[in-house]
Order: sequence, then C-alpha cells, then structure tokens
Amino acid sequence: MELQERLDDVRLRIANAERQDGRSSESVQLVAVSKTFDALAIRPAIEAGQRIFGENRVQESQAKWPELKSETVDIELRLIGPLQSNKVTEAVALFDVIETIDREKIARALAAEIKRQARSVRLYVQVNTGLEPQKAGIEPGDTAAFVDFCRDELGLTIEGLMCIPPADENPGPHFALLAKLAKASGLGKLSMGMSGDYETAIAFGATSVRVGSAIFGAR
Ligand SMILES: *Cc1c(COP(=O)(O)O)cnc(C)c1O
Repeated sequence: MELQERLDDVRLRIANAERQDGRSSESVQLVAVSKTFDALAIRPAIEAGQRIFGENRVQESQAKWPELKSETVDIELRLIGPLQSNKVTEAVALFDVIETIDREKIARALAAEIKRQARSVRLYVQVNTGLEPQKAGIEPGDTAAFVDFCRDELGLTIEGLMCIPPADENPGPHFALLAKLAKASGLGKLSMGMSGDYETAIAFGATSVRVGSAIFGAR
C-alpha cells in the first residue's frame, strides 16, 4: 500500500469513529508521527495534505524539519517524546506544541525559554497513567496540583493532557483516567491513541491521536 492509501484509511477510520461515538466531524486531529523517517519519506504526507506531525527527538527533528517547514508554511510540529533541559532552547524554537511536560524542572525551563524567545508554544502535561517506573509523566494523583503549579506559579497555558498507556494492557481504562483528570483540571484537549488503539481513544474523548506506523509503515 502507498502512503496516500494508508493516510486515507486512517482518515476514514477517524471519521467513522467520530460518527459512531457521536463526536462532531473533524473534532479529532490526526498527528502523523514521522520519527525515524527522513524528509524524503515525509514529503508525500505533506503533499497529501497532512499538516500536523509528531516527533519524539529534538535533535532528529532539527535535522529535517526546518527545511520541511520552510517549504510549507502551515505545518504544525509536535514534540511527543521526552524533553531534556539542555534541549529546551531548540525545542521552543522548533516545535509549535510540546506534549511532554513531565516534571517541575522542565516546566520552569520552558516557561523561561518561551518568555525569552517570545514564542507561543502550546503545551500539554504528560501523565503516567500506568504508573510505569520506566515511563515519563506526572502520576495521576499529582496531575491537578502540577497543572495548577504550571498555570499559577509559572504562568504557562496548559492546553491538555497526554498519555501513553502500558503496551500490554487494555488502553480503555487509561484513556478514561486521562479524560477524567483533564476534566478535573478544566482542560479541553486529550492527546491519546496510537496506531493500535486510536479508535478506542476517540471513543474515550481523544481530541488528537498520534499515528505513526499505520501511516508511514513499520519502523
Ligand atoms: C512512536 C509514538 C507514537 C506512534 O506510534 P505508532 O504505534 O507507530 O502509531 C505515538 N506516540 C508516541 C509518544 C510515540 O513515541
């Protein structure tokens, strides 16, 4: 299958899920996750009208996205992987959305850098819904206080929450938990769902799904 067909298939499935779950049409944004693929592989997706892309590494993104962004003005680039303090300057300069605020130190560094560069970067807090020791994210029970800290102490506008459920579990309860936490903090956006479970995520209220291999093929 060509990229265009795979992209069309994902778009169709999203539209069907929106309809089935009584969501309004186009209420779910598709983030095409292009990590490990080079500019040559990404261009056909842009040509097929895809505009929102997700990457998990700052350095890898710096090698391909400045040029791709300069070719197409309305690209929206999202960081969906962990952010290190020493990459905050580059991340704020390149990304339009950072979905992975997962600790106080990174929140502080982002607040300072966003101010310094006077860039408007949209922000999400990552929640470790499965309490997995190897996974980044704020613990569910600490999420409300952390969101308040980001807003009140740092003056950051947090748009929503993001999660990556444990690979070997039914994702539904994790998506439901993320939706509940967002509601409790008055947040409207939910970044959840990947190639294997994005239709489930839409049923639980995802406003954006991060789909990689179903569009670009196996990594
Ligand atoms: C790689 C990645 C995805 C996409 O995964 P696929 O299974 O290829 O769709 C989504 N979210 C995050 C955080 C990722 O790192």
